[in-house]
Amino acid sequence: MLGKLAKWLRILGYDVLYPAPARDAHLLRLAQAEGRVLLTRDKGLAYRCSGWKVLVKSEDPWEQLRQVVEELGLEVDKGFLSRCAVCNEPIEPVPKENIRDLVPPYVFRTHEHFARCPICSRVYWEGSHVERMRRKLAEVLGVPWRGGP
Ligand SMILES: [Zn+2]
Repeated sequence: MLGKLAKWLRILGYDVLYPAPARDAHLLRLAQAEGRVLLTRDKGLAYRCSGWKVLVKSEDPWEQLRQVVEELGLEVDKGFLSRCAVCNEPIEPVPKENIRDLVPPYVFRTHEHFARCPICSRVYWEGSHVERMRRKLAEVLGVPWRGGP
C-alpha cells in the first residue's frame, strides 16, 4: 500500500525497506533490529510499535510523502537520485563508454554523466524525466527545491 511512498523516499536518497506482507511481530522486530522508522497505514501496528513510527493518514502517495517528510523532518535536497528507486541500493557513477548499449542512442549522444545500480544494473541519467521529478517534488513539498545528484 505504501509502495509509491517507498519509491519516492528512495528517490530522495533515504534508505527504505519495503518488506513483503508479514506478521506484525516480524515487522516490529525488523524495525527495531535495524533502527528503522516504521511507516504504516495500519493503526493496530502503529499502536504496537514502541519505537519511532509514522501512522500514514492519506491514501494519496503525494499526501503521504508530504506527511512523512514533515513528521520526520527529512532533508529533501541532500540525496536526490543517489539511490536506486527499485532496489534501495546507492547508485554509482559509471563511465559513459560502459553503458553505450544499455541506454537509447539519443540518450547516449546527449548526456555525459551516468550512474548505475550495482544490484539491478539499471542506468540513471539526468534526463527530462528528472526535471519533471524535481518540479513535482517542489510542488508537493512546497519548497524552493534544488536537489541535484
Ligand atoms: Zn537497482
